[in-house]
Amino acid sequence: MLDSLFRPKKVAVIGASSKELSIGNRVIKNLLDFGFKGEIYPINPKADEIRGVKAYKSILDCPDNIDVVHMVIPAKFVPLAMEDCGKKGVKNVIINSGGFSETGPEGAAIEKDFLEKARHYGIRVLGPNCQGVINTDVDIRAYCNFTFTKPEPGYISIVALSGGVAEVIHQAFSQMGVGTRIYASNGNACDVTIPEIIRYLGDDSGTRVIVTYVEGLRDASTFMEVATEVAAKKPILAMKAGRTMEGAKAAASHTGGLAKEDIATDLIFKKAGILSFRDEGELIQAAAAFASQPVPKGNRIGIITNTGGPAVIGTDVMVGAGLTLPPLSQKTEKLLSETLYPEASVNNPVDVLATGTAQHYRTCLDAMMADNNFDGVMVNFVTPFFVDNESIAREIVEVSNQQLKPIICNLMTDRRQWTEVVKILQYGGVPCYALPGEAARAMSALVHYNKIRSRKIGEVKHFAEADKTKGAKIIAAAREKGKSNLSAEEVYSILSAYNIPTAPWRIVKSAEEALKAAAEIGYPVVIKADAESIVHKSDMGGVVVNLKDADAVQTAAAALQNTFSNDDLCFFIQKYMPGGLELIMGAKAEDALGHAVMFGIGGIFVEIMKDVVFNLTPVSSGEAEEMLASIKAAPLLEGARGKQGADRQKLAEIIQRLSQLLTDQPDIREMDLNPLIAYEDQVYVVDARISI
Ligand code: ADP
Ligand code: MG
Repeated sequence: MLDSLFRPKKVAVIGASSKELSIGNRVIKNLLDFGFKGEIYPINPKADEIRGVKAYKSILDCPDNIDVVHMVIPAKFVPLAMEDCGKKGVKNVIINSGGFSETGPEGAAIEKDFLEKARHYGIRVLGPNCQGVINTDVDIRAYCNFTFTKPEPGYISIVALSGGVAEVIHQAFSQMGVGTRIYASNGNACDVTIPEIIRYLGDDSGTRVIVTYVEGLRDASTFMEVATEVAAKKPILAMKAGRTMEGAKAAASHTGGLAKEDIATDLIFKKAGILSFRDEGELIQAAAAFASQPVPKGNRIGIITNTGGPAVIGTDVMVGAGLTLPPLSQKTEKLLSETLYPEASVNNPVDVLATGTAQHYRTCLDAMMADNNFDGVMVNFVTPFFVDNESIAREIVEVSNQQLKPIICNLMTDRRQWTEVVKILQYGGVPCYALPGEAARAMSALVHYNKIRSRKIGEVKHFAEADKTKGAKIIAAAREKGKSNLSAEEVYSILSAYNIPTAPWRIVKSAEEALKAAAEIGYPVVIKADAESIVHKSDMGGVVVNLKDADAVQTAAAALQNTFSNDDLCFFIQKYMPGGLELIMGAKAEDALGHAVMFGIGGIFVEIMKDVVFNLTPVSSGEAEEMLASIKAAPLLEGARGKQGADRQKLAEIIQRLSQLLTDQPDIREMDLNPLIAYEDQVYVVDARISI
C-alpha cells in the first residue's frame, strides 16, 4: 500500500538547506506554504532551524514513525542515508537527487546499492531523479515536491515518469482553473512503478480521472493488467510520446532508455480501455471535462449558442469526430418556440441570440436534459455587455450540478473583465474552453470514452480441434535445423493444423511432378518458385498465375527453372483463385505481451495502401469484428460498386484462429498471410510466411 507515501503525517528532509535556491529548502517551503497537515523535520548537521522549523542533526534523532523522507544529497551519500532510514523505520524515501542509473554504470551501481538496503528494511523508494508527490486532500495537504504549481483541490490525478511533462500538465490544469488531486512523478522509478501508482489512484476515492504520460512501457504486461483493472473503475486518459524515431531517441536518452519505436503501447491502451491522445493540450482539456461531467450514454449532442459562427465550428469538429446533432424533439421545439425571442433559431444548434436571457438559457438546458434526442450539451456562451451574464453562468452551473448529461462550455469572453462569470463557472465545475473547437473536442473525448467502455469485447474463443502439438513439433524441428524462416511445406502444415483455410496446394521437385499435381488440384493453377532464399517471389518473377492447362504448366516450370538456379528449388502448385478481394493478416511478436495481430487490405499494394489495423493477442470475437470494421476500406468487405463482398464471419474466425495459433506457438516472431483471397462465402490463404 502506498498510503503512507501519498498521505504522510511526518515528513523529513535529509539535505535540508538554509539556502533559498536549493531543493533542500524549497521542499520545506512548499510543505509549509501548502499548509501540510503533518510534521516537518529538516535534517541538517549544522542548522538549528530551517525556515523556522526545528532542524535535527540526523534522521536518527527525529521522532519515530516517519512516513516520508526526502533525500536531497549527492548520490554517493544516499546508500548510507538509506541505511539510517532503515534503522529508523522510515516507510518511504523520495530521492530528488540525480546521479544514478540515468547517468551511466557508476550511478547505476549506487542505485542498486541503496535499493538493496531499502528492500532489506522494507522501505519504498520513489525516484531517484524525481520530483515527488503532491496530495491536495484537505486532510493531508502534502506538497512533497520541489515544483512551483500550487494546485486547487480537484478530482484529476496525474502520474508520469517525466517530471517536466507532469509539471506542464499540472500547470495547464492550474491555468484552466481546474483542480487536481494527486500528483506523482517518479523519475527513474527504481522501486515504486507507474502501474503501482495507477492501482493506488484507482482505489483513491478522491480521484475521478487519471492522467498519465508515457514514453514507453518498461513492464508492459503489468501495465496492461493494472490498467485493465483500473480503467474498468474510472477513466484513464493517456498520452504516449516518442512516436517518431527522433522522439523515441530523445526519450531514450533522457530517462534511462525506455522508449522503443513501437505500436505496442497504443495496442495496450486500446485493449485496456484507456482513452489515448496524441496531443497533450487535447488530453488536458478532455481531462477537465471528465473531472466534473458524467460520461454521455451516446453520441447525440445538442448545442445552445448566443452567436452563430462558433456553433458552426463546434458542429464541424464534433461531426468530424463521429458525433451527431439530431433535431429537437417536437416537445422541445414547441417549448422553445414559445419561450425564446421570435427571431431565435429553434433548431439544433439553438441560437438564443446575443440578447438571450438567463431564463432562455435555463429553459433550453432543461429541455435538452429532458429531451431523449440528446446525450450531451455544448454551450457556446459569449458575454455581451447588455445581458446579465452572471445569471446565465449561474443557470448553467445549476443544471450542470444535476449531473444528468455532460455539459461543456465554450466561454468566449475577456477573462480579466468578466472575472465573476469565469469564477461562477469554474467553481461550479463547468468545464470552460476558450475556443469552440477545444470544447467540441472535449465533448468528443467524453463520447469516445463511452464508446470504448461500452463496446462488446465478446469472448476469446477456443478452437478445440486445433492441433497445438503438431504445430509445436514443426516449429521445434525447424529450429533444430537452425532455420529462422519456415519452408512453404512447414508453414502450410501449421495453417492446416489450425484449420486456417488455404487454396489446395502441392509441393513438387520436377516439372513432371508439377503436371501431375496440377491435374490433381484441377486447372487453372498457379505455379510458384519455392526455395529457402526466395522471399518475395513475385518481385523475382517467381509467381505465374492462371495456368489453364498442362502446356502452360510445362512452359512456366521451364521458365522458373531458367530464372532460379537454387539447388533447393521446388515448385509450389496451387489452385488459381481469381476475382476475390486480396486481404492481409499478419503477426509480430511483442515482448512480454504475446503478439500483435494485423488485418487489412493485402496483395502487392499493402505497403502503399497501409490500410491495416492491429490488436494484441488473445483476440476476442468482438475485437476480431472490430478489426474488420476499422480499416478504411471496410465498405469493400461489404461489397461495393457491383463487386462482391467478403465473408466477414469467416474472416473474423480466421483472425481468432490465428490468435490461438500465436498464443500456442510463442516462438513465432513474424507471420504474414498475404494475400488471403476472400469471396462472399469463402476465404483462402494463397501465400504465407512464418519466421521463428
Ligand atoms: P509473393 O508475395 O512472394 O510475391 P504471392 O504468392 O503472394 O507471392 O503471389 C503474388 C501475387 O500473385 C498475390 O498477391 C496474388 O495477387 C497473386 N496470386 C498468388 N497466388 C494466387 C492464387 N492461388 N490465386 C490467385 N492469385 C494468386
Ligand atoms: Mg504474398
